[in-house]
Amino acid sequence: MREHLFERVRFELQQRPVDVLKVEQTSEGFVTVTFTGPLLAQFNSLSFDDHIKFIFTNSNGETIRRDYTPRSFNNAKQELSIEFALHAQGDASDWARNAKPGDQAVIAGPKGSMIIPHSFDWHLLVADSSSLPALARRMDELPLATHVIALIHVEHESDQRAFAQYAGRTVQWFDSHQRLIDTVSTLQLPAGEGFSWVAGEHTFALQVRDILLEQGQPKERMKAAAYWKQGTVDFHEKI
Ligand SMILES: Cc1cc2nc3c(=O)[nH]c(=O)nc-3n(C[C@H](O)[C@H](O)[C@H](O)COP(=O)(O)OP(=O)(O)OC[C@H]3O[C@@H](n4cnc5c(N)ncnc54)[C@H](O)[C@@H]3O)c2cc1C
Repeated sequence: MREHLFERVRFELQQRPVDVLKVEQTSEGFVTVTFTGPLLAQFNSLSFDDHIKFIFTNSNGETIRRDYTPRSFNNAKQELSIEFALHAQGDASDWARNAKPGDQAVIAGPKGSMIIPHSFDWHLLVADSSSLPALARRMDELPLATHVIALIHVEHESDQRAFAQYAGRTVQWFDSHQRLIDTVSTLQLPAGEGFSWVAGEHTFALQVRDILLEQGQPKERMKAAAYWKQGTVDFHEKI
C-alpha cells in the first residue's frame, strides 16, 4: 500500500466582521453571497471541506451561528464567497434569501484544515445541496486528470452545474437522496486505492457510509459527515 500524507493545519481562531458585497441567485436552490471586509486579507482555508461559523442576526434580532463552507476567497480583494442552499425554514437560509449589499455578518474561523491528499487513484465524492459547495471546491482544486466519481443530490434541476470536463471525471445528478443511495448500492468501486468523501443529511450520509464499508472501502480511506439533520436545527456530526 502506498503512503498518502494527510496534513492537519491549525489556525488561530479569528472573528472577521464582513459586509455583503454582492448577491447572486445562481439557481433555484442556491444564492451565492460575496462578502468583503479588511480582515479577509488574512483569511485562510486549505481544504475544500473546511467550515466557518457564519454569525448573523435573524428577523427576531437574535444572534445565530451556522456552519458554512468557504467556497472561494481572494485575500488581495478582501473577498470571500459562500453558496447558501435555500430550504423551507431556517434562519441562515432565510438570511441568504433576503441578503442585499451592505448587510453585516461575522465570519469566524476556520479553526483548521484537514488536507486530504490528491495522491489517491480515485476519489468518490457524494453530496447533497448542503455539501455541493464543498464538492464543487474539490472539483476546482483536484488536478483535472484525477479520476473522480461525483454523485450529487440537488432539489431542483437548475441546481445542477457544469464542472470542467475530463475523461476521468464522472458526474451524476439525482433528484432524491434515495435514488443516490440506490446507485451507491450497485456501484462497482474502481480498482486501486481510492478515497471516499461523503457529506449531507445525517441519515443519508450514514447509509452511504455503511454501504461503502460493506463494499470493502476501508474506513481509513473514507470521510463521512452529517451537514444537517432532518427536523433538527444546526446539526453537525463527523460520522
Ligand atoms: C461543515 C459544514 C459545512 C457546510 N457548508 C454549507 C454550505 O456551504 N452551504 C450550505 O447551504 N449549507 C452548508 N452546511 C449546512 C448548513 O450548516 C445547514 O443546512 C444549516 O442547518 C442551515 O441553517 P438554517 O438556519 O438555514 O437551518 P436550521 O435552523 O439549522 O434548520 C431549520 C430546519 O431546516 C432543516 N434544514 C437544515 N439544513 C437543510 C438543508 N440543507 N436542506 C433542507 N433542510 C434543511 C433542518 O432539518 C430543520 O428542520 C454545512 C454544514 C456543515 C456541518
